[in-house]
Amino acid sequence: GRPGCECNTCFQGADCSVRTPDCTVNADSGDPMFLEPYWMRHAEASAVVFSGWHRMSYRATNGLFQSVELERSIERLHRAVGNAVPDGKHMVFGTGSVQLISALVYALSPDSNSGSSASVVATAPYYPAYRTGIVLFDSRENHWEGNTARWANGTAGNSTKKNEDVIEFVTSPNNPDAVLRRPVVGGASAIVDHAYYWPHFTHIPAPADEDVMLFTVSKLSGHASSRFGWALIRDEKVAQRAKDYIMQNTMGASRDTQLRMLTIINAILANLHGEEDIFAFGQDVMTAKWRRLNAVVSRSRRISLQKIPPQYCTYFGNIREPSPAYAWMKCEMEEDGDCYEMLLKAKIVTRSGIWNDASSRYTRISLLKSQDDFDLLLERLTELVDAEMDTT
Ligand code: PMP
Repeated sequence: GRPGCECNTCFQGADCSVRTPDCTVNADSGDPMFLEPYWMRHAEASAVVFSGWHRMSYRATNGLFQSVELERSIERLHRAVGNAVPDGKHMVFGTGSVQLISALVYALSPDSNSGSSASVVATAPYYPAYRTGIVLFDSRENHWEGNTARWANGTAGNSTKKNEDVIEFVTSPNNPDAVLRRPVVGGASAIVDHAYYWPHFTHIPAPADEDVMLFTVSKLSGHASSRFGWALIRDEKVAQRAKDYIMQNTMGASRDTQLRMLTIINAILANLHGEEDIFAFGQDVMTAKWRRLNAVVSRSRRISLQKIPPQYCTYFGNIREPSPAYAWMKCEMEEDGDCYEMLLKAKIVTRSGIWNDASSRYTRISLLKSQDDFDLLLERLTELVDAEMDTT
């Protein structure tokens, strides 16, 4: 059972096991609930309890906002997983990686007194929060210039700009399509968002070693609600500017959260390569979902998925099946038009590709939610594909 669980609209009852009849399944959100069963198995080792008088100060006794112990644990995790090189980098904590997205853009933008400003770009299909955040904060130091394809053609904005004034967001593996990416704008500052560069979601070919890298616990351990992310930054001045932003914005990441994260990351470390390895668990779950989803979709001529080849993973030491966080679905038939709308009629909520600056022929399906949500999603898709078979 799941006492204290938070049911979504398709499930009811004390342990969220009773289905709401005829429910529209929601595959929109990137909520990482697939890891809940792992933490239920490790309920005691991952529990954090502390007294009312603990952690009341803004700062730790060493005067810092960031727990040095937590920094060390995160570095150990990167070395053990082999997904990033923490050596020679400065670590900056944020309230979710979403806060660090703003902090890093600020840190890499020219000084507001210099009279110039940075153009911020990404290659479509990209994670939409880069655009929406920059447009909302509407700063003098930087502005959103959209898709790199448009930018590289010289058709957009100020064509006299040099690439030094460009900040490029690179998501690797990419949200929504799981492609491992590299920067494409030469001479630009890249912010490489590795939210999904963990062995649950992708093979790990080599440790990442870019100048500015971004990680989040949301997709690593699944604790999205704790709002915790970190950046690894080579240049000390850039790191200091990012820290200045965090100071002005929230006076550091919550120290309650840092305490919880230390326990969670240490629990992950204690089980690496053992029977209870979180990445082996996560990869098993996600691979099974991808395999079952492909079995259904491959029978259809109406809908298709991105192709991902099996690849060698340095963490597992073998060639592994794909296990992406999201399916990037395409509606193949002209007459089906908007893929999001087509799936909505089949009682499936997805996230339209329009958000990612892609065509409405594409839509994103989250595979990160619970097993119950996935089973329901697969039932709805099977009904859709079966109906297509009946008419052909
Ligand atoms: N980057 C990417 C690519 C994401 O997909 C997400 C969450 N969906 C985030 C950053 C933000 O994560 P959080 O703020 O929870 O750390």
